[in-house]
Amino acid sequence: MFIRYVSIVLGMIVVAITSAPAVLAQVNPAQLREVQVVTRVLPPMVIEREQALTGFSMDLMNEIANRMRLKVSYTIAPDVRALLEEVRSRRVELGIAAVSITAAREAEFEFSQPILTAGLQIMTRGQASAGSNPLGDMLRLLISWTSLAWLGIGGLLILIPAHIVWFLERRHPEGIVPNSNYIPGIFYALYWAAGTLVTQAESAPKHAFARVLAVLWMFTGVVFVALYTAQLTATLTVQQIAGGINGPQDLAGKRVAVTAGSTAAAAVRDLQAQAVEVLQISDAYDALQSRTVDAIVFDAPVLMYYAANEGKGRVQLVGAPFRKEDYGILFPRGSALRSDVNVALLRMREDGAYQRIHDRWFASR
Ligand code: GLU
Repeated sequence: MFIRYVSIVLGMIVVAITSAPAVLAQVNPAQLREVQVVTRVLPPMVIEREQALTGFSMDLMNEIANRMRLKVSYTIAPDVRALLEEVRSRRVELGIAAVSITAAREAEFEFSQPILTAGLQIMTRGQASAGSNPLGDMLRLLISWTSLAWLGIGGLLILIPAHIVWFLERRHPEGIVPNSNYIPGIFYALYWAAGTLVTQAESAPKHAFARVLAVLWMFTGVVFVALYTAQLTATLTVQQIAGGINGPQDLAGKRVAVTAGSTAAAAVRDLQAQAVEVLQISDAYDALQSRTVDAIVFDAPVLMYYAANEGKGRVQLVGAPFRKEDYGILFPRGSALRSDVNVALLRMREDGAYQRIHDRWFASR
């Protein structure tokens, strides 16, 4: 796989905003232990702005580093697979971005305490761009598989009463079948049966049994039209709500953008959808707008941030996250750093530093 790394070194002391200045003043940069960290750009967890990294995960990492007197050098991985590989090969001591804690990863790596509750969510184009043309919707419905199926069922259904009516009426002088031969007589009967099914009967059979049948058939017509109308209304409504995607069950067969190697990619495949893998989440947003894909499945915190900022009005989130996941900091097995990072993380929860960082990026949640 093509991998390009950008190395960004940040002096931790300068970046840590939440730390106490008194402590900072005493720290001699020479005493700081250097730590290689791999991350990946994924707003608002990690944001790259003019060669500097910010975002929730970066603020968290910087605060931890500050407390543990670490000097962090960041490597940026192009996707989560490459991020895992950096940690697996021990080229770095830890990884932090939006790494979900999963059973498979837990078996191979070590995770910190959860740093954020996340989960997988669906995003589609905004209402304004989905199904906004009623005439187009109507045409699409008329020339759809649904309509074809109903036409087929109707076609088969009319064969039964048409044959009975033809049989009963063919000899009746004023009957609705003017010709006693099967051909063309049956065509009159078929026309009558079709007409009676979808509208009202133009003419009534004269034979007593045929009349009873005609009443039953008219009743069948009422039910048939009601069912057809109900189905069309439901299909139209669903199309107008979210281009036909209202939950994970609607993703089957749809083209869905996910980032390469992510938990979302695996989930989308489980749902029988067509996973379109991209490296950056911004590529997924572009694919959605250009209609290359029907939806995006990705981490809720990332999608919510986009929907509330850059994507406002252009995208919509579908339902709540359908699979819960937690983010963690990733370490190789037997990491010497992990337990100290955990202590720092838990202290940050207890003294409010975690909450402050959380609210900086997820204030409205
Ligand atoms: N939470 C996702 C995962 O760990 C993030 C994937 C990504 O970084 O693209 O699989």
